[in-house]
Amino acid sequence: MTEAWPALPEGSRLALREILIHGVLSRAEIARSLGLSRASLTRAMRILVAHRLVVEVGTDVRGATGRPSELLQASTGVWEFLGVKLTKDRLYAAVTDLGGRVLALHEEAIVSPAPDHLADQVSAVADRLRDAHPAVCAIGVSLPGDVVERDGASIVAASQFLGWRNVPFAGLVGERSGLTVFTANDVHALTAKEHWLGAGAGRRSMVLVTVGEGIGLGLIANGQVSTGAHGRLGRIGHLAVLGGGPDCGLGHAGCTSSFLPSPVIVRNAGRSGMSYDQVVELARSGDARALAAFEDAGRALGVVLASAVLIADPSAIVLTGDGLPVYDLARSAVDESLRAALKPYDEPVTIEVQPFEFSEWARAGAVLAIRRLLDD
Ligand SMILES: [Zn+2]
Repeated sequence: MTEAWPALPEGSRLALREILIHGVLSRAEIARSLGLSRASLTRAMRILVAHRLVVEVGTDVRGATGRPSELLQASTGVWEFLGVKLTKDRLYAAVTDLGGRVLALHEEAIVSPAPDHLADQVSAVADRLRDAHPAVCAIGVSLPGDVVERDGASIVAASQFLGWRNVPFAGLVGERSGLTVFTANDVHALTAKEHWLGAGAGRRSMVLVTVGEGIGLGLIANGQVSTGAHGRLGRIGHLAVLGGGPDCGLGHAGCTSSFLPSPVIVRNAGRSGMSYDQVVELARSGDARALAAFEDAGRALGVVLASAVLIADPSAIVLTGDGLPVYDLARSAVDESLRAALKPYDEPVTIEVQPFEFSEWARAGAVLAIRRLLDD
């Protein structure tokens, strides 16, 4: 029997958020970072302990006063979450605990992208995973599309990959599974996850850039994920990067999509019909045309990164995606074009490379559910 997520007062939500982000915290540290009085903290923590959201794991005497302070961390085994990442043809799922630790992974082909069918499929996957993980209390689905809030409901306004318009997907999966369901754009969800638990943990400002079949960008500003007025923040797939390049198909000569998406690199290398991985191998073995295609892609990536820096002024950029070989193969082209595009500023940019795995995108769905339940 699944326990429903409790309604938590603000102090408890904020305290739990601090604990989740930092892993283990003492009461003294929580009180200090939230500016809570002793009485408020006691009340906030009592509620979290009563709902078995946090557990005490010893005491800490590091504080300035030298007085011991109880250490708290997220409980395990009581509250679990299902994250789902949809691509145009596959479904990836991860069960995590409250701390975002992965407990189970699953993937399968998408049978049909029709919203009703896909909601049936997600719900069936949830049912199967809940046999072994009955503590799953909410689902977070991350998908390639524009997700907006409309009249209190989460709506996929458009998804080119899935062929959807105005689909209330969270509602469809919620009706079938009986669980609370959240949806978000996949890049925004991954950005939120990296901000909480990954390379960007604890940063007030951060940009995430994904490279692969598509190019995406996510933004943390003032400690929050930004999604934009239409759920489209970070659609940089057709950003003008290098003048005079090949037409991307939409009449732009020299946009991101003229150079950087993996299938475009394959084409620009003159190897249509080969896989991206094969062209990566060719470039690694010194094939001049393959290397030239990667260098063009690298120059485009440098401009993308510089644009992100100029617009968002982040403390770090997290770079990820299955197109990461661009950054390996054309690092000097990336760096040179980044430096040139950033002039007159010359401070170094912190770039954290995060290896790509679909399971991390599924995990991001679970973290999305946790964040939403905490109103974060
Ligand atoms: Zn274009």
